[in-house]
Amino acid sequence: MNTKSFELGDIVEMKKQHPCGTNEWKVIRMGADVRIKCEGCQHSVMIPRREFAKKMKKVIKAAEPSTEE
Ligand SMILES: [Zn+2]
Repeated sequence: MNTKSFELGDIVEMKKQHPCGTNEWKVIRMGADVRIKCEGCQHSVMIPRREFAKKMKKVIKAAEPSTEE
């Protein structure tokens, strides 16, 4: 079975869109909980990682590799 992979900075689509009408979320924190920010209204939510993996549909845009040291 495939495990959905996601990384910090990825733009993801959730199964359910935000009430503001946007369905693009940026992963801004990774840990036991994942914090994602709505790209439409900048509202951020924190959800348990397991739940996030369940509710996430796909990665729309992978994070660009950082060149900063
Ligand atoms: Zn929103």
